[in-house]
Amino acid sequence: MIDHPAVIRDVPLAPMTTYKVGGSARFMAEPRDLAELREILENLPSDIDVVVLGRGSNVVIADSGIDGLVIRLGSGFQKAGFTDDGTVDAGGGVALPKLARLAAKHGRSGLGFYVGIPGSVGGAVRMNAGGHGSDTASVIDHAVVLDIASAEVQQWEPDALALGYRRSGLGSEHIVVQATFVTRSGSSTELENELREITRWRKEHQPGGTLNAGSVFKNPEGDHAGAIIERSGLKGERFGPVAVSNIHANFLVAADVATANDIFRFVEHIRSIVLERVGIDLEPEIRFLGSFQQEAHHENH
Ligand SMILES: Cc1cc2nc3c(=O)[nH]c(=O)nc-3n(C[C@H](O)[C@H](O)[C@H](O)COP(=O)(O)OP(=O)(O)OC[C@H]3O[C@@H](n4cnc5c(N)ncnc54)[C@H](O)[C@@H]3O)c2cc1C
Repeated sequence: MIDHPAVIRDVPLAPMTTYKVGGSARFMAEPRDLAELREILENLPSDIDVVVLGRGSNVVIADSGIDGLVIRLGSGFQKAGFTDDGTVDAGGGVALPKLARLAAKHGRSGLGFYVGIPGSVGGAVRMNAGGHGSDTASVIDHAVVLDIASAEVQQWEPDALALGYRRSGLGSEHIVVQATFVTRSGSSTELENELREITRWRKEHQPGGTLNAGSVFKNPEGDHAGAIIERSGLKGERFGPVAVSNIHANFLVAADVATANDIFRFVEHIRSIVLERVGIDLEPEIRFLGSFQQEAHHENH
């Protein structure tokens, strides 16, 4: 049992993710600020696992849910401040499209690529989110990271963050509570045009308005996971209520009846077919949170 008024029990997680699948959190908290977050963690029994959830745009939550405490950063982590020296301090819970829009409004350039990435600042640092020729590594100055076990916060410089292609040196024991970005000055009109152009490009090249979590697999060096899936003859392939998008083969689009297990099994299925047909072992970019059962064999239906 967790004895803190901000902790509630049995909270459905599906609505908090872009795939809209998965079970409930045994415990859930949305601390409103750092003091409350630390207080919750300091009073936490040591046998309770903690999982941090951002905007749920890169995860599949298991149908059995998460048998632990799920933390989402609350209101005090949703703010961004622009300083005169061009740095931007953003709370770990700030939505990336909002950050991109605020930066354009303030005439700050460099964060426009975030407009099409529906995650949070914390998730972006953890995943080194990127696109349109940039990524989080290119724009971050430092992050403020909380260690779940000790509830201590530390400033992490880029070296410690070790941001690489869709990965970082952060683990499940860390929570990014804030990040500071470096921007350049720019014209708001031009920056707003850039946002419009990126949004237009995304609408044309990605299956907007569907249930998905962005690119499912990482691009292997010098190649594209979507092109590899196409070369393997899987574009448009269905697996029950989940399909390889006809617009972008690295997106797996789920029908609203799909379960987390349907997605998990399809990802495994694609991996094994791609390995068999073109000899490439694709590595998932999306994260599976909770328990998933490995199938002994796959049926295609
Ligand atoms: C339509 C669509 C388009 C996308 N396009 C792109 C793209 O162009 N480029 C790209 O890189 N990604 C893209 N993504 C994937 C996703 O948006 C990014 O990976 C994003 O950074 C995830 O942030 P999140 O807050 O949703 O994290 P979540 O999905 O909630 O979590 C992802 C991981 O980060 C951890 N995490 C979340 N918050 C924190 C925190 N505060 N501190 C520490 N760890 C944390 C979680 O535990 C989990 O392991 C796309 C997704 C969708 C649905």
